Amino acid sequence: MLLVDPGLFIGTAADLSDRQALVEAAVTHILSVDSVNPTLLLPADGGFHRKWVNVLDEATSDLLSHMDDCYVFIQEAVNEGQAALVHCQAGRSRSATIVTAYLMKRYQLSFSEAYHRLKRVKQDVQVNSSFEEQLCLYEAMQCEVDTSSPLYKQYRLTKITEKFPELQQVPRELFAVDPAHSSSSEVAYRCRKCRRTLFRGSSILSHPVGEGASAFGHKKSSNLTGVQCTSYFIEPVQWMEQALLGVMNGQLLCPKCRSKLGSFSWCGDQCSCGRWVTPAFQLHRNRVDEIQQLNIQK
Ligand SMILES: [Zn+2]
Ligand SMILES: [Zn+2]
Repeated sequence: MLLVDPGLFIGTAADLSDRQALVEAAVTHILSVDSVNPTLLLPADGGFHRKWVNVLDEATSDLLSHMDDCYVFIQEAVNEGQAALVHCQAGRSRSATIVTAYLMKRYQLSFSEAYHRLKRVKQDVQVNSSFEEQLCLYEAMQCEVDTSSPLYKQYRLTKITEKFPELQQVPRELFAVDPAHSSSSEVAYRCRKCRRTLFRGSSILSHPVGEGASAFGHKKSSNLTGVQCTSYFIEPVQWMEQALLGVMNGQLLCPKCRSKLGSFSWCGDQCSCGRWVTPAFQLHRNRVDEIQQLNIQK
């Protein structure tokens, strides 16, 4: 194992079998980022604080959601003047991702600054490309996993599409609560035709405006000022559930009057502004009305 930062080691699964070395290095906290049960290598009652993040070194694995928790765990050891060991099997990808996230948050570094700092200590680290994207997202979220942010919601949707390619059993919590069956002071959007409430403002997953016509391969792209998004891209809402499961793409109809509102595609779709969104659940702006909740405004 190698010392990356005061109180923080990175290592491999083999490091767990040398209890003496751990004790001598003042390691009190062991964070295993591995699909192999770490207590098989070092029994849980060994006098160490343990944390196990059970993930494979694969593109579908979600480490982003664990970054804040892992930070707290490592910081606990550091604050006590002790040390933490973060390990996976080879000490190259999964553990390196968590250590990089720690350095980013601790020292307010960008992904590349933190990753370079780690590489100076351990040259063979190589986080997989998906973990690299997750670290960039962590940077974009100011090193704070905010599950209500559009960035995180879009990330989670993408991860689920990768994980459940047949889409028969998408986790139910993925769907936003149907706003027609709950009350809130938030901005709501409803069907222009029958006025049924469809989604809330917090369900909108906004994206940076794309490059317009040029993104569609058109020759004329000199005038980009007219570029705009003609749809709302949103997270899936409960009333869509039947339409979405088991099929890759299709139409989205109003649950009340059945008029066509938009479309969805689990593989993603291109917005009118040129930007690709994956997966995509879009409702045409001219089919819905925005409703401000006037009763709470003074
Ligand atoms: Zn757009
Ligand atoms: Zn309707």
